Amino acid sequence: TKWVFTFGNGSAEGAADMKSLLGGKGANLAEMSSLGLPVPPGFTITTEVCTYYYANGQSYPDELAAQVKAALDTVGVATGRGFGDKDKPLLVSVRSGARVSMPGMMDTVLNLGLNDETVKAIGAAAHDMRFAYDSYRRFIQMYADVVLGVDHSEFEEVLEDHKERNELSLDTEITAEDWVGIIEKFKSLVERDLGRPFPQDPDEQLWGAIGAVFGSWETPRAKTYRRLHDIPGDWGTAVNVQAMVFGNMGETSATGVAFTRNPSTGERALYGEFLVNAQGEDVVAGIRTPQDITEKAKKEAGSDKPSLEALMPEAFAEFRDICDKLETHYRDMQDLEFTIEQGKLWMLQTRSGKRTAKAALKIAVDMVAEGLLSEEEAIMRVEPGALDQLLHPTIDPAAKRDIVATGLPASPGAASGAIVFTSEEAEQARAAGKRVILVRVETSPEDIHGMHAAEGILTSRGGMTSHAAVVARGMGKPCVAGAGSLRIDYRKGTVNAAGRLLNKGDIITIDGATGQILAGEVAMLQPTLSGDFGILMGWADAKRRMKVRTNAETPADTRVAREFGAEGIGLCRTEHMFFDSDRIIAVREMILSDEETGRRAALAKLLPMQRNDFKDLFEIMKGLPVTIRLLDPPLHEFLPKTDEELGEVAAAIGVDAEKLRQRALDLEEFNPMLGHRGCRLLVSYPEIAEMQARAIFEAAVEAGKKTGSPVHLEIMVPLVGLKGELDLVKDRIVAMADAVKGETGVEINYQVGTMVELPRAALQAGEIAKSAEFFSFGTNDLTQTTFGISRDDAASFLGTYQAKGLIEQDPFVSLDQDGVGELVRIGSERGRQTRPGIKLGICGEHGGDPSSIHFCESIGLDYVSCSPFRVPIARLAAAQATL
Ligand code: PEP
Ligand code: MG
Repeated sequence: TKWVFTFGNGSAEGAADMKSLLGGKGANLAEMSSLGLPVPPGFTITTEVCTYYYANGQSYPDELAAQVKAALDTVGVATGRGFGDKDKPLLVSVRSGARVSMPGMMDTVLNLGLNDETVKAIGAAAHDMRFAYDSYRRFIQMYADVVLGVDHSEFEEVLEDHKERNELSLDTEITAEDWVGIIEKFKSLVERDLGRPFPQDPDEQLWGAIGAVFGSWETPRAKTYRRLHDIPGDWGTAVNVQAMVFGNMGETSATGVAFTRNPSTGERALYGEFLVNAQGEDVVAGIRTPQDITEKAKKEAGSDKPSLEALMPEAFAEFRDICDKLETHYRDMQDLEFTIEQGKLWMLQTRSGKRTAKAALKIAVDMVAEGLLSEEEAIMRVEPGALDQLLHPTIDPAAKRDIVATGLPASPGAASGAIVFTSEEAEQARAAGKRVILVRVETSPEDIHGMHAAEGILTSRGGMTSHAAVVARGMGKPCVAGAGSLRIDYRKGTVNAAGRLLNKGDIITIDGATGQILAGEVAMLQPTLSGDFGILMGWADAKRRMKVRTNAETPADTRVAREFGAEGIGLCRTEHMFFDSDRIIAVREMILSDEETGRRAALAKLLPMQRNDFKDLFEIMKGLPVTIRLLDPPLHEFLPKTDEELGEVAAAIGVDAEKLRQRALDLEEFNPMLGHRGCRLLVSYPEIAEMQARAIFEAAVEAGKKTGSPVHLEIMVPLVGLKGELDLVKDRIVAMADAVKGETGVEINYQVGTMVELPRAALQAGEIAKSAEFFSFGTNDLTQTTFGISRDDAASFLGTYQAKGLIEQDPFVSLDQDGVGELVRIGSERGRQTRPGIKLGICGEHGGDPSSIHFCESIGLDYVSCSPFRVPIARLAAAQATL
């Protein structure tokens, strides 16, 4: 088996389409080599070795050692050096590289191959001993930290101690001789901690680093990241070993990262940051504040530090050409890493750049105009879930801004919340229902869970490409990064903003659009969508087959959904209309009456209110389909909870409060979700169905007259398990339609259908379809009843299930296609057999979840219905599902 693939010197054994085998980084390094770009030679150990490693008790295939040795020799020939050679030593970097970039894994070891001997040769060749020893101490620090697991703060202490004693403030002031002394201290530190010396043998160093990369695949952090991003555990990671080039060889050397277009706005302009005389990780680590690459960006930022364009014009020109070439080649915005060693440019990485939703839209639409992409490809380029970002609030420009400090606008959107300083605090607060802003000096992959829990992220250190910025953008959370004027004191729990003291728990607002940090809660505005959004959505709408409806019952939600492009209401939960203060007493009266006359009296009060509710919806939807579901309350939700509430209802009905309390107790259920709810209630009390049907038909008559377009009406009966249940209720509805027709002389077109939310309904769909004119799959309840997992109690243990790998996804978020999905498929098939062309939809939360939408397309549902803010996501996902 071939376990190792080499690249460099204008050729490569791999290519960009081999990401599964070589990982993203390795595949693209190979591709860049083949394109003739300046890539330091190296090789990739495949992901199959990782798979082998874990399948065979953490050991390597027999042939691996020889293949690595041969590859090292090839790199040696290409560079004119030898690994471990005392005169012309080859130094390498070792990096992980999964199919998709994955924070939480071992990232990089640089300068590997340095030891007490080779460091001298490196210094002599560079005529710079200081550089050589600086590289060596960096190597020891990095290797000890990520490979040997020695706490890196111990090294920092040695360094700080040295600087203090010698009254130095910058690392760059430390001389070669001093570094030698510090290196000795570093080495004894390692020996003290590990009980063995720091490895001097380059081979031992290399295999240590390779093992660390493979080992990092199964760390808790990496696993968490995979779980959050649906990355299968069996993908494995590759290892990239590459000849070192040095961005820290003095003032003509530099290192940087760049995007071929602006990753925040999508603007077509090269965008990036670099540091002179620095090594790779310094830029992302955010310790020194980087400089802009282009003159344009420098001017826009009002920076006083020179751009790369001004500082190293030749290397810059070559870099710009390469950017254009790569963008055209990959037909996508690229995220690049480069190093300039004594004026010579080297490319270290290219990959598709992460971007905000706004940028994704603009880039996709622009690239169609530039002829780089087809409309179909553009549709596929925007991740539907990311649209969420565009739909989030921004700060009202009219609001008063009490600006505490300003940082970089790292990720768009705005958020308010209480200050917390650790990810643990963020998670706890979130669990307690509080909104928080995570405030950190900088973030690391360990903070992912806290960033998830927070409304927004604020850091005092780091640039636009720092961890906080990149991750927040990916999550679609607002982030302000690098607010350097903040002094964060974790121990005291305070932030000092130029003299102004904020404490843990204080409310702040961050504005990811301007980088401002504001005191208190600030008024927000709902977003307006850009032209690019409209264009891409237009393409998507032209491609998709399924319709997209919304779950809404208030006029406000319904209007929002219309603006987002909903093509009807797929679920109006009428019980949600019953909580309004003008009617809750009448609702309780109805429920608590123990005889029909009492119920009818209460229903008579509710009728005009319901009629108005429905009329509003019909008018907003103007002839688009509106599915109204009859009452489906787990009754306990409506029962009076306090003595005061009980007294109110007792007075309204005119009965004794004590008697009413007894009735309420009688109605309490052990298991309300499986109790007297849905059509069961309508079977017991058909007068409820009659009142609702009357309100619906009368509203339809009135709305039809007012808008001039007839109402497209669908009446839906919930929680049906038996055809007979549906028939009982349907009879009442039909009778009421006739009655209203007799009274008004207007004939209303309508259909009566059912929700399929019980396994029995799915299995008996053929029978039920004899009466039901449409089905709407209520996958919330169907998931609950199929798994036998309470939808209200699942949160307490599903997390454990996910952590233990029992389920990939929360089945209440993303449809369990194997189990629940099979029932949906069976229900659809059997329904269609009885009633060919029967209209089929889904209205559980899954109707707004992209992967569930793909499933719905695959079984040919007619529409999905979701909450208003997910409508755009569903439109795009439905289009992608057809491509
Ligand atoms: C469902 O069960 O999927 C559904 C949409 O109904 P509800 O969430 O109101 O129970
Ligand atoms: Mg339901």
